Formats: sequence, structure tokens, C-alpha cells
Amino acid sequence: MSNLSQIFASMVFNDSVMKERLPKDTYKAIKKCMEEGSSISLNDANVIANAMKDWAIEKGVTHFTHWFQPMTGITAEKHDSFIERCEDQIIMEFSGKELIKGEPDASSFPSGGLRDTFEARGYTSWDPTSYVFIKDNTLCIPSVFCAYTEEALDKKTPLLRSMEAINKQALRVLKLFGNNDVTRVFTNAGPEQEYFLIDKDLYDKRRDLIYCGRTLFGAMPPKGQDLDDHYFGTIKPRVLKYMQDLDKELWKLGIPAKSEHNEVAPAQHELAPIFTTVNIATDQNQLTMEIMKKLATYHNLVCLLHEKPFEGINGSGKHNNWSISTNTGVNLLSPGENPQENAQFLLFLMAIIKAVDTHQDLLRISVASAGNDHRLGANEAPPAIISIFLGTELTEILEAIENGYSYSKKPNMKLDIGVDSLPPFTKDTTDRNRTSPFAFTGNKFEFRMVGSTFSIASPNIFLNTIVADSLCEFADILENSDDFKNDLNKLIKETIKKHKRILFNGNNYSNEWILEAKRRGLLNLKTTPEAISYLNNDKNIKLFTKHNVFSEVELQSRYEILLEKYCKTVNIESLTMIDMVKKDIIPSVNAYVNELLEIVVRKKSLLGNINYKTEEYLLNKISDIIYLTYEKVEDLEVLINDLDKHTDLLDKSNLYKDIIIPTMNNLRALVDTLEGIVARKYWPYPSYGDLLFSI
Ligand code: ADP
Ligand code: MG
Repeated sequence: MSNLSQIFASMVFNDSVMKERLPKDTYKAIKKCMEEGSSISLNDANVIANAMKDWAIEKGVTHFTHWFQPMTGITAEKHDSFIERCEDQIIMEFSGKELIKGEPDASSFPSGGLRDTFEARGYTSWDPTSYVFIKDNTLCIPSVFCAYTEEALDKKTPLLRSMEAINKQALRVLKLFGNNDVTRVFTNAGPEQEYFLIDKDLYDKRRDLIYCGRTLFGAMPPKGQDLDDHYFGTIKPRVLKYMQDLDKELWKLGIPAKSEHNEVAPAQHELAPIFTTVNIATDQNQLTMEIMKKLATYHNLVCLLHEKPFEGINGSGKHNNWSISTNTGVNLLSPGENPQENAQFLLFLMAIIKAVDTHQDLLRISVASAGNDHRLGANEAPPAIISIFLGTELTEILEAIENGYSYSKKPNMKLDIGVDSLPPFTKDTTDRNRTSPFAFTGNKFEFRMVGSTFSIASPNIFLNTIVADSLCEFADILENSDDFKNDLNKLIKETIKKHKRILFNGNNYSNEWILEAKRRGLLNLKTTPEAISYLNNDKNIKLFTKHNVFSEVELQSRYEILLEKYCKTVNIESLTMIDMVKKDIIPSVNAYVNELLEIVVRKKSLLGNINYKTEEYLLNKISDIIYLTYEKVEDLEVLINDLDKHTDLLDKSNLYKDIIIPTMNNLRALVDTLEGIVARKYWPYPSYGDLLFSI
């Protein structure tokens, strides 16, 4: 594409546009705000708003919106036009006040009891650290969203707070190593996004996909992903056209979509952007998902982002590649070239190991949803057990440090951090471990449990906060040390000893690991309700309030929102199943039964004693299964009605998990058996084979 440099970020009010269009002082003020978190005066905001408006109008824009990320997991916007009445004329205006603050009605967004509908006022407020952009002819202003009473009602606010927390603590640690030139520390994310593409005409025939985003029934086709012939395979022309259009749309928004390929399952694909700071990466990933879906319809396709659209076929995840870097351009997770740098790298590594071990529950919670429960531990994604993969070399180095013996790569070398030389360890040379939930990949960690529909905000909020907490503890110890080198050595050694149980380089998909993890005392929170029940415990309240990421009330509201979403999701799925069975499946099966009966009657009447055993056998079998199916549907209806009595959300979600989901599974098994028996032309929905191999 020859004009790529012209279209890239053409819809973004980014640094170069600001440099060109803002007076020098205003430009300086906004840069300072972005880099150091200082605030912007109303005067500057007026100048910036005006420049944004002129830039947008030149591109045919008439409206603006605060673009925010409520707890629905998707984004929200309310469009206002620039027009103002000026006597009998209409003029285009956009003030600093409008840029800074919006007042959407907050009552219809999930708040976990924080807001009652009669108290509907909420505020959106411009986040100057993420660039303003144009989408659908509207100027979109990335914003935070909070209640009148100031509690955060969104995912961006705690993310920004968590970035602040890790910045503060990492700076303290860096100072100890004499890095006085560093003034800001950022965390970065590069989310690899998996998705399915299916034909829209087929999608429209399946209510389960329409209502739930995943199939609730579906027998396995003769061919699934058995041949492994899709992974990195040639991209089909229709898909390629979609990917090319997608790249173009993302590039216009300054989203650096970098690589695209076919994934393991048929009809499954992946897109990975170039990484950026977690705040911008989160905004960009939300936009990517939105555009993926929207663009698919222009190609008469549907983009499925659900974690498990098809049973028996790999689901979709989102690998959250995460690293910590400084404003001086140093990646703090890059092993260093000299002993000093290596000691610093090791301390950051220790902070992560300690954090992940201490807060296994939080990482698990950050990826907990009804959809992701179908994927984690299904031999296609890591199990629900959190562990860290470090690779052989780094593991050997840690073992050497722990035991005080020399590291074999450099014979007879005593590892004495900070003075004698540590080996210059670079990228791990061993095979990548694709089964690990949290893998070190040379200069970043790859958190592989995130579900494909998730906002990456929560995983990064939790990662930032737990690592900030370890760094805080380390800084508290080392700032008071009289013998830095000695205490640093001791701290690293002790941390390895205490937290090494979280390290695991083996196969995370194996049964042996489940047993071994249990022996090590690691958590195995298999389902969302089990995981969420940990969110508001004392340890976590203390952690989040200490670092000002969530207040206790906010944490409690997130706990309720997550459980409520789980219950609602399973409830919608079970109602959809009931609807499909009663309205489509039973009538369709009966039509086939009728055909069989007619055959029997005709065979009997026309030809006397001709063999009709096949029809008889099918009739018997189908009638038995259809009766069991109907019984199960009735059971399910009664069970769902019973759940209305329960008001405690944790109890309720446990009942969905323990009673409703198993009943749904039984119902599904019956229907899938029927699908295998009933003639194709009578089955009311496109089959898995149709859906997966249609394009
Ligand atoms: P893979 O070997 O899994 O293909 P890549 O190096 O291509 O890994 O990166 C995959 C993702 O990780 C990309 O989105 C990339 O931008 C991101 N990434 C690379 N380096 C970093 C980093 N230092 N911090 C965060 N994300 C990163
Ligand atoms: Mg990856």
C-alpha cells in the first residue's frame, strides 16, 4: 500500500498534529500532562478544544463524544454536535469545558450497587494521556467515567491509578540503583487478539450465536481441527480482503496492526499490534474489537470474539504481552549487559515472581468470565492454575543464586549480585512454552489466560498493582539498608526461596501438573464464582486501598458486577436453549418423524410386507431422545425459576455453576445426538461443518 504513511493515524489528534496546530506553550502543557501527569489549565483546554474542533471540521466531522469504558466491558459514547446558536446563525463551537467534562446519564450502566437510578448523575472526564480520534464522523475523546460521588464506574480510572502506583514504586527502586535520570515508569501491553470469522447468512440462522455469541448446540463435523492444516495456512481470499480492510481502518486510527495469520481452528484468525503503554493499548484494543465486528458485516461476515464459540474446537484468547519501561527508553524486563543492570533486572523479576505467587487469585479473577470458563483448562489454553514460565537459563540462574553456587555457563563464577559479574543472560534460547499462563519471553511477560472478549484493562490493573506492591515492599526494606549490596543479595535469595513454587517450566496441560500444583499449595480456581469469591477478601482490600487503585466500596461494586454478569450470561444462555428446543428443534425433529411415519405407512400399504425396520428403529430412537430432551427443558425451566428466590449473588452464581450449567450440558448432549440422527434437510440450523468451512 503506497499511501500507508499518509493514512496512518490520519484520524488521530496525535503528537505531530498537536505540534503543528497548538501554540508552543499549550503544546508544552499538554506534553507535560501526558508525560508527568500534571494538570491542564482551563485556558489551555480552550485552546486545545478549539484546535481539535478545527482539525475535525476539516475532516467533515460535525459531532463530538466522550468515549469511555463502563463496566459493560465495551465502550460507550453519547454524541453531541458542535453547533451553537449565535443570534439567528448557527456556529460550530467546542469549549475547553466540553472537552474536559461530560455528564452522561449514569443510571443504565452496571455499577454494582454504587448508583441507584434516582441518583443518575455521572461524569466523564477527558484523559489527556490517550489521543483524541475520529470515528464514524465523530470526534472521540477518551475519557474516564465516575459517579457524582466520585467512585470510578469504569475500567480506565483504576487502570490510570494502577499506572500511577507502579510508577511511584518503580521510581523508588530505580533510585536505589542510582537511576536518577528516570522520571517516569510505564507499563506496556501488546495484546494478540484471536477471533473467528463466519458467514453472516449462516450466523443469522442461529439464535444461540445471535443472543449469546456462542453455539449452545452443535454436533462435531466429520472434520474439525484434526489435521492442523489451518494454522498459519494460506489465508482465503475473502478473509484476506477483510484483513486488508481491517488493517487500513486500524491504521487510520493510529493502531499499529502488525501481524495477521490463521489460527489453529478452522475459521480462526489472529491479529497482533505493536505494543504501547497499557492505557493506550487498552483503548486501541477496545477500538480494534469494535472495528473488527463492524467491518465484518460489510463483507457479509460475522466476527465472533467469544472465548468458546464452538465446543470441541479451540476457543479464542488474547495474549497480553506486558513489560515495564522508563521514559529514558529502558525496558526494565530486559536482562542487562553488566552486573549492575542484571541486579536491577533480577530485583524487578523478583517483584513479579513475588506478586504473581502472592496474588494468584487476582490474576485468575482478572480473566474470569462465564465465557472464559469454557476455555481455561480445556487443553487449548492454560489451566486455571497460575504459574510462571522462566525458561531453562533463567531458572538455572535463580537456582544458582538460591543455593549460592556458581552458574554453569561461566565456570567457577560466584554469583554475587552487584559486584562480581552475573552472566550476561539474554533471550531464552530454549523452546517457547506455549502451555504456560504467564511466560517470560525474553524481555516481557506474556499473560495467556485473558479471554478474547475481555477488555485488557483488568489484567493490566491487577498486574500493575500487584507488582507495585512488591516493589513497595522491596523499596521499604532497601531504602533503610546500611549495606545495600548485602541486603539486596539477601532479599533476592529470600524471595526465590519463598516464592519459587510458582515457577513451572513443564507442560501446564498435563494431569501431573494439576496434582503437583496441589502439592505446592497453588490455587486452582476452576470457575468464575470460585475465583470472584476471593476478590473482596481482606488481603485484596488492603492491597488496592493501599495503592489507591480501588476504594473498598469500588472493589465491592466490582465484585457484584462480575457475579451479576456471570449469572446473567448463564441465564440468557439457558433461556436461549429452551427457546431453541421448543420452537425449532422439537418441531423440526417431528417433521422428520412424520416423514418416517409416512414411509412406514406407505411401505405397509403399498408393498405389503417390505422391510421397514430402519424407519421403525429410527422412530423409536428419536422418540426416546426427544422425550428426554423435552423433560430436560422442563427441568431447566423449573430450575431457572427457582433461582429467582436467591438474592445473594455468590450463592446464586454458585447455583448457576453447580445446577444450571450441568443441566444445560445434559440438554446439549441430547440435542447433539439428535442432530447426528436427523436428516440434514430437517435440522433447523447450519451445522458446525457449515459454519466452520463456509468461507
Ligand atoms: P511472538 O513471538 O509471540 O509472535 P512477538 O515478539 O511478535 O511475539 O510479540 C507479540 C506481541 O507482543 C506483539 O503485540 C508485540 O507488540 C508485543 N510485545 C513485544 N515486545 C513487547 C514489550 N516489550 N512489551 C509489551 N509487549 C510487547
Ligand atoms: Mg503469543
